[in-house]
Amino acid sequence: MGGQHVTAPVATDAEREALTFAAFDIDVHLRPAAQQIAVRALLTVRNDGHSPLAHIPLQVSSSLDWETIRLAGHDVAFTVATLNSDVDHTGQLHEAAIALATPLAPGATLALDVTYSGTVPQSAQRLITIGTPTDAALHTDWDSIAVDFTGLRGFGNVVWYPVSSVPVILGDGARVFDEMGEHKLRIAAARFRLTLTDEFPHGHAPTVALINGRLVPITLTEPPAAGAEVPGIATASLDSAFLGFEAPSLFLAVRTAHQATNTALYTIPDDDSAVEAWASAAAFVTPFLQGWLGQEPRSQLTILDLPDPEDAPFETGPLLVTPVQQATQDELDDIFAHALAHAWMSSPRAWLSEGVAHFMGTLWIEKQQGRKKALESLESSRTALALAEPASPGEGPGQPLAQAISPVYYRTKATYVFWMLRDLAGDAALSAAFRNYTPTDDAARGLGPNAHADYFEKLIERAAANSGESSSLGPSPDLPRDLSWFFSDWVNADKGLPDISIDSVFPSHTEGDNWLVAVNLSNSGYAAAEIPVTVSNPQTSITQRVIVPARGKVTQRILMQGQPTKVQANDGTVPETEASIHIRTLGEADGAPPSSPPAVQQ
Ligand SMILES: [Zn+2]
Repeated sequence: MGGQHVTAPVATDAEREALTFAAFDIDVHLRPAAQQIAVRALLTVRNDGHSPLAHIPLQVSSSLDWETIRLAGHDVAFTVATLNSDVDHTGQLHEAAIALATPLAPGATLALDVTYSGTVPQSAQRLITIGTPTDAALHTDWDSIAVDFTGLRGFGNVVWYPVSSVPVILGDGARVFDEMGEHKLRIAAARFRLTLTDEFPHGHAPTVALINGRLVPITLTEPPAAGAEVPGIATASLDSAFLGFEAPSLFLAVRTAHQATNTALYTIPDDDSAVEAWASAAAFVTPFLQGWLGQEPRSQLTILDLPDPEDAPFETGPLLVTPVQQATQDELDDIFAHALAHAWMSSPRAWLSEGVAHFMGTLWIEKQQGRKKALESLESSRTALALAEPASPGEGPGQPLAQAISPVYYRTKATYVFWMLRDLAGDAALSAAFRNYTPTDDAARGLGPNAHADYFEKLIERAAANSGESSSLGPSPDLPRDLSWFFSDWVNADKGLPDISIDSVFPSHTEGDNWLVAVNLSNSGYAAAEIPVTVSNPQTSITQRVIVPARGKVTQRILMQGQPTKVQANDGTVPETEASIHIRTLGEADGAPPSSPPAVQQ
C-alpha cells in the first residue's frame, strides 16, 4: 500500500504531457470535522503522444496520499515522488508513476482504479513563497475542507482529483495560468461522474452542494439528536457527458437560501442584509439579458457566499462564489450582467462561454453609459491582446480562439469578435445565434485541443440569412451570409491582429455639390477585417463598411454632398496592433479637379 517513495520523479515531462484523461468516475467521501477526504476513482486515460508510454503519471495535492492503484483488477506497484508545482495551493504534488509491463501505444486507452486520501486544510504556501503577505495569501487561497464550508476549486488551486501535468511555478510569467487553461481544454471532452458522501457533525447539515458549478440535490440522513457522536450523512451526485472548459470543482456549505430572479443565493448570516440589493440587481438586469439571449436561461445562476468578506471571488459555469457584500447598485448590476449571462449561455468552449458573458458586460455598459464608454472599455484591454498576439503567424503559434486557453484570447479577443459579428451579421442575427445555440449539439462536433468546429459559424450564417437584416455587404437576404473568411482569420486560426492605415485620400468635385472621395486603405497585418469608413464635413457624414484584406490594399469610393473635411477608418470595434481609430483631416487644397489629385499629407 502507498507505493514506494522516491526522491527523483520517474515520469518525464513528455509522459506527463502525453497523458489525457478521457473519463472520471469519482467516489468522494468527506469528513469535514477532520478536514478529511477519501477518494476512489475509476479513470480512463489515453496516450495522446506520438510514442508509446512506459509510465503512467498520476498527480494529486501534496496533502493527499496515494493508497492503491489497480489495473485490470490487480494491484500494481508504483513509485511516489513529490514535485514542486504551483498548480496546487501547497506548492507541491504527489505524483504516482506506474511502470507498465507493456507500454501504452499512441491513441490507446487504459482503465485505472485508484484510491487516495488525506486532509485539505487551507494552505497559502505557494503564495507565501513568492512574498505575498500571509493574510492576503489566505484570502486568495481559501480552498479547504471544513465543517460549514468546503471549497475545492480543482487544478490550479487544489488538485483533489488525479491529473497529469508539467510542473510549473508562480513567478514564471503566466505559466501556471496557461497550464490551468491547457488542463481545462485537454479534459473538456471527458465524461465526468461524481458521487459524494459527506459525514457531517450533528447540527451542521450542508444546505447547498455544487459539483462543477452545477447545483445538485442533497439527500440527508440526520443523526439522532441524542447520539452526537454519530455523524449525519449527506449524499449528492452529478453525471455529465462532457466536462466542457472547466476544472472539476466541489462545494458543500451550510448557508441560508434566498431566491431572486433567475438566481439562487446562499449566504452566511452576516450577509443576509445585502441580499435585497443583490436580488434587485438580478431583477434589473434580467430584461436586458432576455432581449439578447432569450426568455428563459438554460439554468439558474448560483451565488455562494464565501466565509470572509476579503475572500477573492471565483466563477465556474453558472456559479459565482463571492463574498455577498454591500455594494452600489451600479457595481451589482455590472456583476449580474456578466454572471447571469453564464446562466443563459452555457458552452463547453471558453470563447463562447466566457466570451459571451464578457460581451454582455460590454453591451450593458453601452446600454447604461453609451457606445463611447463601451468602446473605451474594449480599448482598455486591447494593448494586452496586441502584446499576446504573434506579430506574424510565422513568429509564434498564438492561440486560435476556438481552442484558446488564455483569458486575453477567450475573454478579450472573443468580446471583440462578437462586436465585429454585430456589424457583420446584425444584432438580430447574433442574438438569434445565441438563442439557437445548444451546448450538446456543439459538443457533438468535438471538444479539446484538436477540435475544429464550425457549429456557431453555421448558426450565425443561417440567422443572418433569416433575419433579413442586411449589412452593407450582405448578398440577397435568402442566401446564408458567408462568414467563413471572418471565422478562418479570427476564430479557427490565430492570424494576429490587423494593422490598418489610410494611405491616401483623393476627394474630387464631381457635379453640383457632389464630391467623390477615394480612400486608399492598406492592412499590413495577417487578418482580414471589415471596418467602417466615414467621410464627413460639419454638415453631413457617410459611413460605408469595407473589407480590408490581409496583407493587402483596397480603395473605397464614397459619394457625398459638400466638400469632405475628415476621413475616419475603424471606430474601435476592430482591434488592431496599434491604434484602432485612424483619422485624416482634409484641407482646402484637397479638392482640386480629378485630373490633378493633390498629394495628401500622410
Ligand atoms: Zn465569466
